[in-house]
Amino acid sequence: MKSDSLQTLKEKGHRITQARSAIIELLENTDRPIAAKSLYTMLERIGIKVNITTVYRELEFLLQENIIEKVPLKDTELHYEMKGRPHHHHLLCTSCGNIEDIALESEHTLLEEAHTVSAYNIKRHSLAFYGQCPKCQ
Ligand SMILES: [Zn+2]
Ligand SMILES: [Zn+2]
Repeated sequence: MKSDSLQTLKEKGHRITQARSAIIELLENTDRPIAAKSLYTMLERIGIKVNITTVYRELEFLLQENIIEKVPLKDTELHYEMKGRPHHHHLLCTSCGNIEDIALESEHTLLEEAHTVSAYNIKRHSLAFYGQCPKCQ
């Protein structure tokens, strides 16, 4: 399966190294944010030998190319996910470090209230949830 992101990079004249395409595929095929160190471990597991510096460099490159984005979470190392996914926020388990996506149906109500209360024209927002996952409770 060829990804659109890889195609876009190719069309822009970028080299598609084995590590580069594997990192994109790993990020595309996961439903949660990944930290650089976990990506490194996942690459090793599928037999792609790189060093951690390469992983950081590739992530920096993919950020610049607007293919991935940093996940705005405090109290954990930096995580990354594909850009342009449906709108969602994140949950972080402060015991085991698990991170998950969460989409909230009632979010528009909150945004309307923020606008009403403040009279701001709200352009963006950030929201994150911290607590203990079911396994850690
Ligand atoms: Zn939101
Ligand atoms: Zn947990």
